[in-house]
Amino acid sequence: MLIVQKFGGTSVGDLERIANVAKRVAKTKDEGNDVIVVVSAMSGETNKLIGYAEHFSSSPASKEMDMLLSSGERVTSALLSIALQEMGYNALSMSGRKAGIYTDAKHSSARISHINTDNMKQRLKEGNIIVVAGFQGITEDDNVSTLGRGGSDLSAVAIAGAMGADLCEIYTDVDGVYTTDPRIVRNAKKIEKISYDEMLEFASLGAKVLQNRSVEMAKKLNVNLVTRSSFNENEGTLITKEENIMEQPIVSGIAVDKNQARVSLRNVKDEPGIAAKVFSKLAENDINVDMIIQNVGHDGTANLGFTVPENELESAKDIMDKLNAAENLEFDSNIAKVSIVGVGMKNHSGVAGTAFTTMADNNINIEMISTSEIKISMIVDEKYSELAVRALHEAYELDKA
Ligand code: ADP
Ligand code: ASP
Ligand code: MG
Repeated sequence: MLIVQKFGGTSVGDLERIANVAKRVAKTKDEGNDVIVVVSAMSGETNKLIGYAEHFSSSPASKEMDMLLSSGERVTSALLSIALQEMGYNALSMSGRKAGIYTDAKHSSARISHINTDNMKQRLKEGNIIVVAGFQGITEDDNVSTLGRGGSDLSAVAIAGAMGADLCEIYTDVDGVYTTDPRIVRNAKKIEKISYDEMLEFASLGAKVLQNRSVEMAKKLNVNLVTRSSFNENEGTLITKEENIMEQPIVSGIAVDKNQARVSLRNVKDEPGIAAKVFSKLAENDINVDMIIQNVGHDGTANLGFTVPENELESAKDIMDKLNAAENLEFDSNIAKVSIVGVGMKNHSGVAGTAFTTMADNNINIEMISTSEIKISMIVDEKYSELAVRALHEAYELDKA
């Protein structure tokens, strides 16, 4: 079998852990498999490098940031390769460039356009264990690019897809996908199998155990994806096609995203074209608007509110200031999005009612709501978000799953 194994930041967090990873990889190789390993930077390393850049500039050029941040993953790939060589294995490290990972030129959040697998195939055929530095690629004009935070998951899935691997294992510090973040709810339960769509929703709504674009790619390329812990031998969670799952629960889990911010425009003129102007300007600047709410007062003016990722708030502010579409502008980054996810929701009523009642019982004010067939999201004050997660987890009896 060809197996791609990705080890996240905490799994390679110090030298002892890298040695532990080397043993795990060696075991997979000894069992007769071909192995491609994808590694993250040591935990905290990417943030440390960002801090260094911010010492010099509040808006460093994204091309330089990619040069800087991609170094973290290169360090771990070389160290793991050295550890494996010392154990007697033929191993070699590869940067994104060596692994043939081509991306577009959108630095800091580049998209993979294609992977030239020739080099990896050749080196595998020679019997090598390949250790790829995750999170990075190369643009057509030969600049280093990075794939966005959490992007090593995407590197692993994309390589697994392009190489036709039998399995892609994402090793992290929890032994699978849980009904909610186990750091918030101690008695969260591990999910044995989850569909690509549900996992995508979960990841997009803040469950950072898998990066959302990696799940999207896994679905597209039909990659057998498993998340598990690098610290124990427990079975992980299989992310698979919906038809491989016998019975879907009504609610599968609760996600929380604290990296949200809200922009409120008060006293917007209630006339055609204002919303179009606001949202097309944001789109032109690649700002990801999520929830939108608008209400019209008796005096003919309207209030317009929307949410954006916290790290895009500064740009959104600039755009709104220039646009001058409202008398009053307000910005708030102390909000969080709490979401209930479940494919089974499609055929059940009452799920939303339970959510709103639970929030009311806990005196938590819901500031915005949005729903789709398989999720309900609510914006709340960030300081109540963990309370909301715990209460909802209990209300849907997820601890009893
Ligand atoms: P890595 O560094 O290995 O990529 P991450 O920190 O990106 O790991 O993701 C693992 C973390 O995701 C866990 O430590 C956990 O706190 C968090 N997490 C959030 N939601 C969930 C969930 N539903 N199931 C499991 N882990 C979750
Ligand atoms: N090191 C990068 C990050 O912290 C990529 C990753 O670990 O997936 O976002
Ligand atoms: Mg991660």
